[in-house]
Amino acid sequence: MRMSARPQNVHQARLLRLLRDEGPRSRAELGDVVRLSRSKLAVELDRLVALGLVETAGLAASRGGRRSGIVRLSPALRFVAFDIGATSIDVAVTDGELEVLGHVSEPCDVRQGAMAVLDRALDLLGKLRDQGLVGQAHGTGIGVPGPVSFRDGMPVVPPIMPGWDRFPVRDAIGQELGCPVLVDNDVNLMALGELHSGLARSVGDFLLVKIGTGIGCGVVVDGAIYRGVSGSAGDIGHIRVDDDGPMCACGNAGCLEAYFGGAALARDAGEAARSGRSPQLAQLLERHGELSGGHVAEAAAAGDPVSVQLVREGGRHVGQVLAGLVSFFNPGLVIIAGGVAGLGHTLLAEIRSVVYRRSLPLATGNLPIVLSELAGQAGVIGGARLISDHTFAPA
Ligand SMILES: [Zn+2]
Repeated sequence: MRMSARPQNVHQARLLRLLRDEGPRSRAELGDVVRLSRSKLAVELDRLVALGLVETAGLAASRGGRRSGIVRLSPALRFVAFDIGATSIDVAVTDGELEVLGHVSEPCDVRQGAMAVLDRALDLLGKLRDQGLVGQAHGTGIGVPGPVSFRDGMPVVPPIMPGWDRFPVRDAIGQELGCPVLVDNDVNLMALGELHSGLARSVGDFLLVKIGTGIGCGVVVDGAIYRGVSGSAGDIGHIRVDDDGPMCACGNAGCLEAYFGGAALARDAGEAARSGRSPQLAQLLERHGELSGGHVAEAAAAGDPVSVQLVREGGRHVGQVLAGLVSFFNPGLVIIAGGVAGLGHTLLAEIRSVVYRRSLPLATGNLPIVLSELAGQAGVIGGARLISDHTFAPA
């Protein structure tokens, strides 16, 4: 296969995306969808076969008359995804249909800086290589936990990523791997993952709210990520909830993130532990030396009223901001994801109740608010989707 192979026109691009999203199809089915004559379709498919992107795979069951040949994406196609979070790093390899063939994940502090973290990502990719899962990648999608200039392929003044400002992530990794690379905000990748194989598969307009260390929102309009003019669309963590609220890492007071998210939860749980208000959290603090959102989830599940209250209050603040977003955007679905979404149904119930109470009935009448079901894979599937959208477009 020619690794630089790209479709040469919109018909070929459409065929590739269709085979990616729907799996192998007969020539007859493909012809129906892309509305090409039999002979024109044959020309485009032959070209894709010659490029090594597509192959024929036997005959389909007859629809009456001659049996139609099955076409599928080349099984040799590989996409790579790096999902870099504030406290973790995930690397995965997918096939052309974005099925995850291998996925490794480990704790990693993004504050170590771009060089150290990206080197680690390349090491993890090396592990997947050693397992024979990837030779040459066809493209790589990378997510980072901060604002990204999508056009330049680099983070721009990311608040929780010291040492990453304007680091040329796209170009550095592109040179290393010898394939096309795109870099985006991690929340946008998760939204793309949900669009490809999660709960948003049949939804064109939706919001994905990620509650991790911080809080962000992926905005999908008509099946595509909406990034705004400079790439910061969906940065809802710094919407102000209350002028007199706690100080935020961004320097302002009362941001949503200052109230809730992994960092705020750890702060509030620590306070509750040290003040003696929650014996359960105090015990967890003694055992682990520090507290995280996960510990609050654990204590809440064990019935600690202080932890349950922290989760409820957090859900209320998220719901308050989300109600405004729903009124403004009128989404068809809201997905709650990220590590803190592990707080589960107490959190979800609170968010739902605030949004349904505060938004207009016309906006919420048919609005599911749900927890992600992709369990940590949304980001890497989204990374593969991002780069495949690029490589399956005319050069
Ligand atoms: Zn802020």
